[in-house]
Amino acid sequence: MNNENNFKINRLNKQNEMEIFYDYDYGDLIVLAKKYNWPKFRVKQLLEWQAKSIQSTSEMTNISKDMQAILEQEMIWPALKIIKIERSKIEPVNKYLFELHDGNIIETVSMHYNYGHSVCLTTQVGCKMGCSFCASAKLGFQRNLTAGEMLAQLTMIAHTEQTHVSHAVLMGIGEALDNYDQTIKFLRRLRSEHGFTLSMRNVTLSTCGLVPEIIKLADEDLPITLAISLHSAEQNTRNILMPIAKRYPIEDIVAAADYYFTKTGRRITYEYTLFDKINDQPIHAEQLAKLLKGKSVHVNLIPANEVAESIWSRSEKGTIEKFLRILRENKINATIRYSAGQDITAACGQLRRQNAQSS
Ligand code: SF4
Repeated sequence: MNNENNFKINRLNKQNEMEIFYDYDYGDLIVLAKKYNWPKFRVKQLLEWQAKSIQSTSEMTNISKDMQAILEQEMIWPALKIIKIERSKIEPVNKYLFELHDGNIIETVSMHYNYGHSVCLTTQVGCKMGCSFCASAKLGFQRNLTAGEMLAQLTMIAHTEQTHVSHAVLMGIGEALDNYDQTIKFLRRLRSEHGFTLSMRNVTLSTCGLVPEIIKLADEDLPITLAISLHSAEQNTRNILMPIAKRYPIEDIVAAADYYFTKTGRRITYEYTLFDKINDQPIHAEQLAKLLKGKSVHVNLIPANEVAESIWSRSEKGTIEKFLRILRENKINATIRYSAGQDITAACGQLRRQNAQSS
């Protein structure tokens, strides 16, 4: 083996043991400061640089060259690299394709609304859940993201667009609750006094319905909004749309969601993507209304994206409106929600899949 190959392997091994700058929380930076005898104010400075989304040590203008060299040695730089930004021409939505330090590719969406700036984050490289309509599922699962990599997506977008991110949505690639520990760590850092202060009320986490994790999350004292991707109130149809459904019956998911509501006081959102003649008929709306009757919930009806990855097609506009009417007649709060950025690759994982196919 030649020297260059040896070098690459050593570098990879070294990377496996190291973390990116954004993975260092307050406690980790205190330990690092002790190791190198840095005064405590250095920790505060480093946290401030994290919030500013710097991607190299040379950007830390108030840190000495010696300290920069140590940080260079201790951590992986940069955390993320922008490969592509797709900008919508019809609404203030931008989709980012990022490369992680190990070459994996993820995507993140930035959305500007009149109530603030919201970022839809990725929590895993790929996904194990295998939903039949999802572009992310087609590329399989590679690895979990670290809490620092979630944070880096958010700060990188804030930095690039020069705005303050007010809302975070964990609805990008991956099942956030399948990466439970890192997701919780990320959420705790978002609301910590050390650097980031995003209200948990402005955070939404989407799950395909992992019952034990929903119950665990209810006990974490993190009052975020829980969005459950239900897509059918009928078990057999749900089994076909989402293989994970076979593990957790619908009644168990709703019971876990009720527990979440009792513990946090946060109204549950149910996501329901409509597929032509699969789950969009009046009988399906009635089943859903019966399942959720009397509960403090909101239903988002989502017209399916027309993507090559899906074997199902989008429901007719009139069918969607009729579905909505039936829910409302049954006193279920419901609205129709279109995916942001319809003129760019709107479906989750679509841009990443396109990139994989062209490379
Ligand atoms: S829809 Fe969500 S949970 Fe299902 S495969 Fe796609 S990323 Fe995973």
